[in-house]
This record gives sequence, C-alpha cells and structure tokens, in this order.
Amino acid sequence: MRRPSKPDLPPPPELPSFRVEPDPVDDSARGAPSSLEGSILDRHEGTKLSRHDAPLDEDAIDSDAAKVVRRLERSGYQAYLVGGCVRDLLLNGRPKDFDVATSARPDDVRALFRNCRIIGRRFRLAHVLFGGGKVVEVATFRRNPGETDLEDDLLIRSDNVFGEAHEDALRRDFTINALFYDLDRRQVLDWCGGMPDIQRRAIRTIGEPIVRFREDPVRILRAIKFAARLDLGIDPNVYDAMVASRLELARAARPRLFEEILRLMRAGGAHRSMWLMWEVGAMAVLMPELAAFLDDDEATEDGSLRFFRKMDAIDRKTLDEGVLDDVVLMTALFYEPLEEAVAGVRDVMGAVNDFLEPVIERIAMPRRIADGVRRIMTMVPRILQGRIGRFARTDLFLPALDVAEIVLHSRGQSTASVQALRREAMPPITREHRRPSAFPRQRGARR
Ligand code: ATP
Ligand code: MG
Repeated sequence: MRRPSKPDLPPPPELPSFRVEPDPVDDSARGAPSSLEGSILDRHEGTKLSRHDAPLDEDAIDSDAAKVVRRLERSGYQAYLVGGCVRDLLLNGRPKDFDVATSARPDDVRALFRNCRIIGRRFRLAHVLFGGGKVVEVATFRRNPGETDLEDDLLIRSDNVFGEAHEDALRRDFTINALFYDLDRRQVLDWCGGMPDIQRRAIRTIGEPIVRFREDPVRILRAIKFAARLDLGIDPNVYDAMVASRLELARAARPRLFEEILRLMRAGGAHRSMWLMWEVGAMAVLMPELAAFLDDDEATEDGSLRFFRKMDAIDRKTLDEGVLDDVVLMTALFYEPLEEAVAGVRDVMGAVNDFLEPVIERIAMPRRIADGVRRIMTMVPRILQGRIGRFARTDLFLPALDVAEIVLHSRGQSTASVQALRREAMPPITREHRRPSAFPRQRGARR
C-alpha cells in the first residue's frame, strides 16, 4: 500500500520512523516497590502491574479532576486519572479533557458529589459538573465482555460489564491509552507496556492487532488520529493489521465513523490524517470518491497536490483560529470531486445532492451538514469570481469564505480578495470572538 513518493507533492506528513526495540522496562520496575504502604501494595496484587515514578506537571492537571480523584480515594474507593489525559501529559501535550476511572459504582459516585448526573443507559457513567460547563467523566472500572457475551463474530456490541482496574486497562484500545495515574503517589500504573510505547512514541494495540481491529474497526481511524495529532509512529504489525482490516470499516456504526472523520480533521493534523487514511486504504472504503480522485493524478492534473495543500491550509487555519466549522471541513474535504460533479451542470444543488447521497448513506453525514455543503457549493464559485450578491447576508457566508480561502490556498493563489470580503462582513470585535472556547486550541501541544 505504500505509495511511490512524488516529487511534486507538498512536504510529506513526516511520520516519524521508529524502531521496535526490546522492551526497555527493566524487570525490577515490575511489581510495586517495597516502600509502598501495604494497602496500595495489595490493591493490584497478581495483576502484572508496572509502576513508574513519573510525576506529571501538577499545574497541567485539572484541579477539579484532581478533587474528584481525591474525594473518591478518601472515601475508600480506588480512583485514577486515565486514558487520553495521562497519555497527552506524558507526551507534553495539553489534554482535551480529564477522565477518571474508579472502583466506585455510578450510584456511589453520585452519592459523593452533589453536582453529579448519571448518563448512558447501556453503560452508566457519572458526569461531575463544574463551573464554566466543565465535565469530569467518572467511569467505573469495566472489563471486556467474556467469550459468552460475544456474538458469532468479533464485533463488540456491548461492553457493560464492571471489572477490576487491570481489566479496565486491558479492555482499552492502544497501550498508550491504557495508563492510569495515581495522583497521591505520582506514579503511572501500566498493565500493558504503555510506558515503553510512550517512550518510543509508538502506537500499539493491546493484544493482537487484527483481533482488536475486528472487534471495533473504528480503532483504525483512532490509530490514524493519534499518529497524526501526536506525531507518533505506528507499530509495523499494527499498521499491517490496519491495512488488512480496512474493509471491516464498512461494518462499523456509521455515526461513529462520521464523528471520527471530523476528529481527524479538527485537531490540526488533517494533512497527515488524510495521507494515512489514503495510504492504509481506509479512504477507499469510507470515501471512495476522494480516494479515486487522489489515485488519478493524471486525469485530475495534480489533484493530489491541490488536495494535500488544502489539508495544509485547514491545519494552518485551525492552529491560528481554533477549530473550523464542521460544514467548512466537509465542504473543503470533498471540494474537488464536488467541483467535478457540478462542472457544466445547470442544477448545481441537484448534482451536489446526487454526489452526497451515497456519502450520507456510507458515513452517516448528518442532513444538516449535507445541506450546508450543498449551499456552500453554490456560493464558493461566485465568491471566487467576485460575484457575491445576496449571499453576503446569509448565515453560511462566513463559512463559505473559509472554504473559498482554503481552495485558493490549494491552488497557490492569493486570498486577498476573500480577506477583504471577510473584513467587510465582520467587524474586528466579532472576528476576534468568532470561535470562543468551544474547542481548545491545540497550538504547541503536539510536538
Ligand atoms: P481524545 O484526546 O481524542 O479525547 P482519548 O484517548 O481521550 O483521545 P476518548 O475517545 O476520549 O479518546 O476515549 C477515552 C479513552 O477510552 C481512551 O483513551 C481509551 O483508553 C478508551 N477508548 C476510547 N475508544 C475506545 C475504543 N474504541 N476501544 C477501546 N478503548 C477505547
Ligand atoms: Mg478524551
């Protein structure tokens, strides 16, 4: 699946190479040091736990999440920071949110926190609410459903079985996502080799990659997301399993697919994400319109060059201004194939409809977004020709300007005209505040 390098493509996504080396964890690190208090020693006895003294930057840890952990611990439960926040802090990134895993059951958590609500029917989680809309998610340890809970195939359809801390670690997808942080002892708890993988910056599944991707094919997109966003390498066996399991993506829950595709584009790593999706073959399964466009450089006259320049423009804009509107991302993603679909057609809306119908079917693009794409596709060509007219007063004018700007970048053309239109349409105050804190900036958090 590796593609020949093309000299005229924009700089490659620079996925770092890494060597898989023997496990650097030395055996003395396995098991708890003898100085730990008895109760903590007993906690995870016999579970093949590695404890790592790895104090995380206290200032970077969300104080409300820390409060939740400490109150649970003081009340006699086990509680740890888990998942993405531990991973991101170890990699010097800024976590998006802080999740807590605990031995307390959801109702126990609710009894401890007044500002708590229980969500989810299949698997109940506690949300502890703080000022400013902040939510700390508190999940009871759970384990993978046993063999008997599985249907004929491997696809996991329910995962609502409570378990122990180590089982909760092992049910997770990648080793780097399965680290628990013990706030009081300032230790990282590792049951599956996540710390060595953090050190060598490698994405590895917990257990057999083929099995883990068959269980949940969305993990293929998650691997791409972490590789692109956090600048990590993908273990060669994992990479091969992603390629081998790519067709399974067609079986995954479609709304999850759509959400993951958006996430791939939202965090400043759209170029690398789309490159990897194309290379792994996931794009051919989920967005064949795009894969065909990229595969056929001759017919599209360097379409792949424009496409990846467009992804660069999205990444730059995201880093400068914060996350882009979903409608902007989707229109920009499909822009060239859409442009081809409407070329020379009178009924632009109808042609866009015909193009989007299978996309809506395959990845569950919400109608609201499809409708936005349709409307923006009628506006962008006019913006590019300087024929604005009544569009300037519609709610999608600013998103359409964003798309026009991204398209101009992809063609290597000046965006001055679009900037001028934006200045006219938006007084400076609005401009500054147009993307408030709905999505925290990732600037500086990734490298
Ligand atoms: P992000 O920074 O994008 O939120 P994250 O790792 O926190 O990344 P979430 O989707 O918030 O990802 O999930 C939280 C944790 O739940 C993950 O770190 C991982 O341990 C576990 N998890 C999420 N999705 C899966 C999955 N499909 N299979 C197994 N474990 C998963
Ligand atoms: Mg998260």
